[in-house]
Order: sequence, then C-alpha cells, then structure tokens
Amino acid sequence: MALNVDICIRGGGIVGTTLAVLLSRLQLRVALISNSSPTTNQSTRVEDIRAYAINAKSKSILESLNAWPGESACTEVRQMQVLSDSGEMIEFSNSLQLNALNTQDSTPMSWIVEVPALEAELAKALSLSNVQHITHGYAGAELQEIHAPLTVICEGSKSTTQQAVHSFTERISYGQVALATHVKFKDPHAKHRGVAYQWFNNSSALNTNENSNSEPTKEFEILAFLPIGGREGNTFAIVWSTTVERNAALNHLSDADFTDELRKSSKEFFKDLVPVSAKQSWPLALSSAKNWCGVFSPKESWVLCGDSAHSVHPLSGMGLNLGLGDVWALYELLLSKEKVNTSWRPLNDLRMLRDYERQRKLAILPYVQFIDKIQLLFASDYPLARLLRNKGFKTFNALGALKEWTIRKAMQAAL
Ligand SMILES: Cc1cc2nc3c(=O)[nH]c(=O)nc-3n(C[C@H](O)[C@H](O)[C@H](O)COP(=O)(O)OP(=O)(O)OC[C@H]3O[C@@H](n4cnc5c(N)ncnc54)[C@H](O)[C@@H]3O)c2cc1C
Repeated sequence: MALNVDICIRGGGIVGTTLAVLLSRLQLRVALISNSSPTTNQSTRVEDIRAYAINAKSKSILESLNAWPGESACTEVRQMQVLSDSGEMIEFSNSLQLNALNTQDSTPMSWIVEVPALEAELAKALSLSNVQHITHGYAGAELQEIHAPLTVICEGSKSTTQQAVHSFTERISYGQVALATHVKFKDPHAKHRGVAYQWFNNSSALNTNENSNSEPTKEFEILAFLPIGGREGNTFAIVWSTTVERNAALNHLSDADFTDELRKSSKEFFKDLVPVSAKQSWPLALSSAKNWCGVFSPKESWVLCGDSAHSVHPLSGMGLNLGLGDVWALYELLLSKEKVNTSWRPLNDLRMLRDYERQRKLAILPYVQFIDKIQLLFASDYPLARLLRNKGFKTFNALGALKEWTIRKAMQAAL
C-alpha cells in the first residue's frame, strides 16, 4: 500500500531521528524509514560503545526535543589537554576571561555523551511524536511505497539511496581505523574530574607482535581519553586512531597487554587502567558529496543531511555536531517557509534546497579544512612538518586570544 507524506526521512540514526522529531512539530506529515525494527534494537543489536563530544549548540537542539540524557551519561568537559609527540602540551579550559571585568564563563567546553543513552532518549522522543516510523530489513517486512515531495537522505556514509541517485561523493581514506573502548582507573578512589586528553603520536611503532623480528616502522596515531560516567566518574571512553595493521594487533591483545600499550601511547600518564568493555572499530575517511540535492521526478526531490553529505576524522569530535547543524538549517528553512506562508514554493523546490546546500557547504568548509590540515600535519614525518608541529604547539600556547577563539568556535561549531 502506498503512503503519502510531506517529508520522508531515510535513515534512523541520530541525525535522521532528530530531524524527524523536529519537523513533526511543523504542520508537516513526516515519515522516518529505518533499517532495523525497535525489537531488533533492544534485543539483538550490538550497542554502540562510542561516546561523542557534543557542543553547546547541539545540546540545545537535543534539549529542545527532551532528548538530552541524564547526568550519568553526559559528562561535562571542563578541561582538555592536547599533547604532541615531543611532549609539548596545549591546555584548554572553560574558565575563559570574557571581558575586562574578568567575568568567568562556567559553560563546559563540551559534553561527552554516551551513544546508547542518546539513542534511547531519541527513540523515546520519536515514540511521543506523530512521525510515521517505518522499519524494514527484518524478516517478513515489505518496504512500503512512499511518496513525498521531499526525501531527506540521512543514511550515513554508506547510503544506498545516495548511490542510487548518483550523488557523486569524494571519499579519501585516512588509512586509519578508530578503535573505541572503555577503561577505568584501577584505584577505586581515582576520578577523571571532567578532563579530556588527546595525544598526537608520531613515533616508532610499538611492536604489538611479540614474535615479529621486523624493524619498528614510523606510525602516526591519535589517542583520545574522553571522561564518561558523570562528574564523579572514573571511566574514559577511548578513541584510538591508528593504522589498519596496528588496529588489528590491538584488537587481539589480552586485557593486560592492551592496557600496557595504552600506557605507553599515553606516555605513562595513566599507569593503572582496566578495560571495562568490548572493543569496536571504524575505518576513517574524509568524504564530501558534490551535490547535496536533486530530483527523483518532477514532483519529488531529495536532499542530503549528516554523514551522507560529509564525514571527517573523529580527532576533533565534530562529525555529529556538523550533522546536527545540517538538521537545524533545514528545520529553520522549513520553519520560515511555514511562518511567511510561502506555499507557492513547494517542498520539492530546488532553489530552496540549493540555498540550504550553499549555506551548509560554506559553514562546514572551514572545519573540514582545519581537521584535515591537522591530520596531515601530524601524519607527516617530514622534518618541516615536525618543526611546525612543535613550534606550533609552543606558539599556540602563548597566544591566549587565539586559544580562546578556538574554544569558542569549537563550542558553537557550524550552526
Ligand atoms: C570513532 C568515532 C568517533 C566519533 N566521535 C564523534 C564525536 O565525538 N563527536 C561528533 O560530533 N561526532 C563524532 N563522530 C562522528 C559521528 O559518528 C557521525 O558524524 C554521526 O554518527 C553521523 O550520524 P548520521 O545519523 O548522519 O549517520 P549514521 O550514524 O551512520 O546513521 C545512519 C543510519 O541510517 C541507517 N541506514 C543506512 N542505510 C539505510 C537504508 N537504506 N534505509 C534505512 N536506513 C538506513 C543506518 O543503519 C543508521 O542507523 C565519531 C565517529 C567515529 C567513527
């Protein structure tokens, strides 16, 4: 049986679900198509181990949907330490001097949000909305025929619908895989105190294969320790971006050997840690779609949102924040259309969708370029790159104003 709606959203990840709930507040009939049933989600689906750094703007969007998880699953980041391979450190903290009167800003730099908790809150908000939620991909279910003037593709970076509409995407592999897991302090009294850490290591590979006689190779890796479990927590979500080979080796290590490698890569910063979860891995690529909108037919258009349109290295914790920026831009566009009653412009109007494409490409470009340059600078072993890395750390540290600007930008990113 065919279903007629105003907007069809394909992909029930965080971006697609947030958009569906937001748009259902407008006078629009919205359908969300996801590829797993609610029962599959709860019983057989493997829980995502990741915890995302979420900025203040993204937080306010999720709060407006009542989808912000409780304190134990959202940890405030009060300080961040970024360390280079030569031991230089840049320290960021939220205690910015705002003006001549030395007013202190007590807003956290970001929040580390556990993905399963956020997904559960969004599922709750979805069930309370009037979105028509259609799931497919489980036994016996037929994919309903859906007609909508506008389809929003939120299927992530492996979108089949995006491939079907031939939207060309430039994808460059970083040659790295991100390993995610959780570790906690062995000492029951130790706490993370809301401090996040990130190491940019470009050194001889630590040989994880005991039987190998081969020479150590040069390797670039980024290791992040993100505080989770709330203000009084003692657990870190780890994101460890390494070469494919090192990722495979790390995945096969015993718990003791794994924490030993972690100790070495964090330059002995944390000596006594224990793994408390499984390990999961994601291949990393920089991708960006050339065209973000187009037509299925004269009456039906499509537009991209989130990772279907762009993906970046997780080193900056920006991917989802940029995706939620897309969501908000699309929502505001349709809200203003509703307010000024521009009904002469139908939802499939390509000029309107191109405005959104232009606006988002411009907003995202500086972040994508910045993240990419940082990754390239640290991945390079040329002496000049090494010099720039280390001089750069020193100079950046000395420039208080630049540091404050960087923190502000990261907190408000791309909306
Ligand atoms: C290791 C790692 C750490 C990260 N850390 C951060 C961070 O700290 N902060 C941050 O902002 N970002 C982070 N990111 C980026 C973040 O994961 C992504 O930007 C975000 O998940 C994108 O959301 P999305 O909904 O667009 O896509 P996805 O999360 O990929 O969701 C797409 C959904 O669509 C579904 N789908 C796919 N095809 C179909 C189909 N044909 N029909 C129906 N449904 C379909 C999928 O099953 C999935 O549910 C990180 C990424 C990685 C890999």
